[in-house]
Amino acid sequence: LLIAVDVGGTKVAIASYENTLTLLKVLRTPKEPSELLDLLEMELSELEPSEVSIATMGPIDMKRGVIFNNPHLKVPDFGLGKELTERLGVPVYMVNDCSAGAWAEAKVRDEENLVYVGFGTGVGVGVVVDGHLLLGKDGNAHEFGHVKIALEEDLPCGCGGTGHVESFLGGSNLRNFAESLGFRVKGGAEFFKLVKENATVFNKFKKVLRAFLASLANAYDPETIVLGGGVYFKNKEVFEKALEGFEKDKDIIVRPPRVEPSIYDDLSPLYGAALLAKDKPSYWIEKLVYLVDKGG
Ligand SMILES: [Zn+2]
Repeated sequence: LLIAVDVGGTKVAIASYENTLTLLKVLRTPKEPSELLDLLEMELSELEPSEVSIATMGPIDMKRGVIFNNPHLKVPDFGLGKELTERLGVPVYMVNDCSAGAWAEAKVRDEENLVYVGFGTGVGVGVVVDGHLLLGKDGNAHEFGHVKIALEEDLPCGCGGTGHVESFLGGSNLRNFAESLGFRVKGGAEFFKLVKENATVFNKFKKVLRAFLASLANAYDPETIVLGGGVYFKNKEVFEKALEGFEKDKDIIVRPPRVEPSIYDDLSPLYGAALLAKDKPSYWIEKLVYLVDKGG
């Protein structure tokens, strides 16, 4: 039995996959990294999987099977794939959650060039170019949420940098974004209420969002930019309004892509993790060196 898992900063989702995906459980992500490992070991061993594929928050080191430098985890190096492979005695694959999302959306749309953007606590990106999932030296070739778009504004990002796309659009940074424009909001819901009511805030939101998507279009030349993630789905109409006429933006130098919501809603990363485990593209599976190099 193939089990797919989506490990995020707030939620852990577990599904089985046999021709189709069946969502089994959604749990709260424990605060302590060791508790997260124990929880996954317990939940997964009960299911007696033959293989497990994890879509995870990043950044990741696919070779070592770890998440590193993650602002939500209290340890610099977290051996999610490596540890679980040892504990469960079956292969536990790892892929960035938005890369998995991109793979799922490219497959279901039968497209070779696609960018997936997940708007959640942070801003994640996954990229498929010429049918090939972009991975990079460790598995982070797509970290476009941390592109610096503001040189003068010192808005902090969860990663420790400033002026990144995520500094503005990341769910946990919306408060700071509003404050930089002279407004106080408690969280995401209040922020998007403000975006709807206030032209200054709306225009700034629109400007950042469009600059981000235009840059993605120019960098990867996709047929489609797929939008997903909890923050997006909760505020879909605001995003749509801000993106009206986007294809005519002067900042786009390539043939403009379509911009569409994800077909699998917030299950794209789970689908992608499962489909990658099914397809096992060689360039992906060969990167997971920890699977064969268990002794270290
Ligand atoms: Zn950042």
